[in-house]
Amino acid sequence: MAITSIRGFNDILPGTSGQWRWIEETAFSLFGLYGFSEIRIPVVEKTELFCRSIGETTDIVEKEMYTFPDRRGDSMTLRPEGTASVVRAYIERKLYTAPVSKLCYTGPMFRYERPQKGRYRQFYQIGAEVLGDPSPGVDAETLEMLMRYFAALGVEGVELKINSLGCAACRPAYKERLLGFLKNTEDRLCENCVRRIGTNPLRALDCKSPGCIEATVGAPEITDCLCGKCNTHFEEVKSALSLYGHDFIVDSRMVRGLDYYSRTTFEITSGALGSQNAVAAGGRYDSLVKELGGPDTPCFGFAIGMERLALVLGTDSFSPTELSVFIPMGAGTKEASVGIVRALRESGLPVAEDFSETSLKSRMKRADRLGARFVMILGADELAEESVTLKDMAAGTQDLVKWNGLESLLAERLTSR
Ligand code: ATP
Ligand code: MG
Repeated sequence: MAITSIRGFNDILPGTSGQWRWIEETAFSLFGLYGFSEIRIPVVEKTELFCRSIGETTDIVEKEMYTFPDRRGDSMTLRPEGTASVVRAYIERKLYTAPVSKLCYTGPMFRYERPQKGRYRQFYQIGAEVLGDPSPGVDAETLEMLMRYFAALGVEGVELKINSLGCAACRPAYKERLLGFLKNTEDRLCENCVRRIGTNPLRALDCKSPGCIEATVGAPEITDCLCGKCNTHFEEVKSALSLYGHDFIVDSRMVRGLDYYSRTTFEITSGALGSQNAVAAGGRYDSLVKELGGPDTPCFGFAIGMERLALVLGTDSFSPTELSVFIPMGAGTKEASVGIVRALRESGLPVAEDFSETSLKSRMKRADRLGARFVMILGADELAEESVTLKDMAAGTQDLVKWNGLESLLAERLTSR
């Protein structure tokens, strides 16, 4: 029996991979305009890194990680997200000697979740992190970049939700208030939330179980409990977002699934996605670098879910340059073929040469099945004329075209449809 892939793990096939590359390239070139550079981080890290950064009592660490012993018996984990590795690299490689670091990345992440549309066990993220700047302007500008990115791809109808989770000075008091509230509704909370309300009551606000959603209606709101500094920071983020002209909704229940966040958090959702509707999410994590042993470094970052972004975009958003097929007829045309095909490719036109040496009829059929929009035929007659027969497969027309100027003519016909 043939071997199949693992549940929740996808192949990104040629029909989609071109769009993915375009999505990634558009991201990196746009992010570059804001001063970001790419960092390539490992897919596997020591398990401890994720436990300490994401938090022991989060769903990710408690039940979603792909953890395994390596040959020595040391505990390794396939990365469930990118921020922890970026911060680890930032500290280990002493990137903090620069006043600020702006890093972006892309690659697969792994979480043992229940696979469904928009939720997989291996999924890709595009992420960006600004390390070393506490300014609310950074939060707003990074969100502006994200919104401009979606606009550049042609994404429509996304909604930006923001919140502030406060800081070490004001969150403990909020936690106490929330805990007091949750204690009174404990009988309606799920087992998981009951178990962890003592250590991490905020998790109950992020829980997707219907009972918990219902039980936490009317819970105290963090935005009412912010200290003066966090409040000012949040107000400045909001007014800067308005300067950029971005609408947003303050959602004071949004706590996010990772413990390292402080102050600004956000989520971008799309109505086109159904229940897995978050396309991107992130926020500030001002104490993580220090907690992992680095210098005091306030940070802001986000991650976009590639599969969900591709779902929002649909298949019509990106069309690669169509393939043309080149058919040389007879041994005498070999030398000319090499030059023509090379020149076409050098001018950026995708060409597949047909080497099959069968009848013209079967070669034309093959070109059609390859989806060729144009077919070029070079036989003895064309060779004598320094021309090719150029067939337009969609229109069913053909004409004799000189080698000289073939690239520009083909490029023109490929775009003028
Ligand atoms: P969700 O609430 O949908 O589970 P999350 O809060 O766990 O998302 P983050 O950890 O913040 O998400 O990751 C950022 C983005 O990565 C999400 O907004 C989503 O687009 C994407 N993402 C997260 N988990 C998955 C998954 N299992 N499959 C596909 N995409 C995912
Ligand atoms: Mg999740």
